[in-house]
Amino acid sequence: MPNNISDIKVPWSGRGLTYTEEEIATVVEAMRAADPLTQGHYQSEFEDRFKTYTQANHAFAVSSCTAALELSALLCDLGPDDEVILPAHTFAATAIPFARTGAKLVWADIDSDTRVVTVDTIHPLITDNTKVIIVVHLYGLMCDMDPIMDLAKIHNVLVVEDAAQAVGVSYKGRQAGSIGDFGCFSFHTHKNISTLGEGGMLTVKSDEHAKLVPGLRHNGMRGYEGDRPHYWVPAMSNVDFDVDGLWPYNFCIGEVQCALGSKLLDRLKTINADRKTRADRFIEAFRDYPELEFQKIPKDCEHAWHLMAVRYNGAQFGATRDDFLSLLAYTHGIKAVVQYHPLYRYPLFEKAGFGKADCPNTENFFDNMVSFPFQHWMSEKEFTDMINLTRRALDDIRNGNFTHD
Ligand SMILES: *Cc1c(COP(=O)(O)O)cnc(C)c1O
Repeated sequence: MPNNISDIKVPWSGRGLTYTEEEIATVVEAMRAADPLTQGHYQSEFEDRFKTYTQANHAFAVSSCTAALELSALLCDLGPDDEVILPAHTFAATAIPFARTGAKLVWADIDSDTRVVTVDTIHPLITDNTKVIIVVHLYGLMCDMDPIMDLAKIHNVLVVEDAAQAVGVSYKGRQAGSIGDFGCFSFHTHKNISTLGEGGMLTVKSDEHAKLVPGLRHNGMRGYEGDRPHYWVPAMSNVDFDVDGLWPYNFCIGEVQCALGSKLLDRLKTINADRKTRADRFIEAFRDYPELEFQKIPKDCEHAWHLMAVRYNGAQFGATRDDFLSLLAYTHGIKAVVQYHPLYRYPLFEKAGFGKADCPNTENFFDNMVSFPFQHWMSEKEFTDMINLTRRALDDIRNGNFTHD
């Protein structure tokens, strides 16, 4: 069994996007012009433009999607008697902010075809203690939101959309992050658009929640109300609780990042369209290989194609997913990966008492999934090599030309 990946032809990149010269110039200009370097007019512009883009009621730029999730968890006003329903097939940051509140995490299974949660996987988990449902538009696929929102309404439950992977996609004409009570977006290096490696956005539906965000985002700081004899009396600014007992954070993002984020919104449609074109070509190239099972896209649910994750059904050829991954990496030079270990299997959640779940689809998909390199800047040659070499690997297995991992 070869065991080196030195001859990699198609790497797995830690970076989703490269920048245009115009975007680079925007960053350089903001470096010169911004004063202050945080919480200034670039942030306001980014928030306004994001709000317009997503048609959310309110948008707040923050340092990461995790920060957005932390703020939404805080605003959900959770305690030890409350339950939060969420998928285990997601990144750990979906769950950690809600676990921190002391609430109980209740793991919902994914649908085996779409690989996201549905009303059918959530409904049986609702109890009198359910206070929040978190949906994750994983890989970039919008969850089927209407039935989930209907369920939430009946049970008076808040809905958080983890849209980290789904910026710019819509559902029945409504954008990700504008349907639930909160929407959380990521501009981390991997994502479809990135504000220099880290960054995020929180969208908020209700005015009552929204007015609490600026203080919670920035150490409880606020202006004074009413007339003051001088601008420095009794101090330059005030610090207070927005909600008694809710200690604030500093989740601010810098102005240069906001300038870039704002600029990237001009290209978001094109970036997502490029990804879709490639995804369509990739899926079409494996039409004759039904052992590769792609994410099923329900009517009305758009896909941002943040990732290209497939299920490999090799049992009919006596092959496992690991056999396929080995062949791809060590023989054909494609570094595909495996993602989203069910969260309840991690020591972090096990030790906190969240190690139990009834999620057969989550486990089945994780055990059989392969995620292909899918960075936007992959060259045409790399992309066609990936298709051709993957077909060769699938043929090898069909012809019995492989050794077990
Ligand atoms: C990337 C990601 C996050 C966290 O985003 P950060 O900006 O890195 O904090 C949360 N949820 C999902 C589904 C993600 O993919």
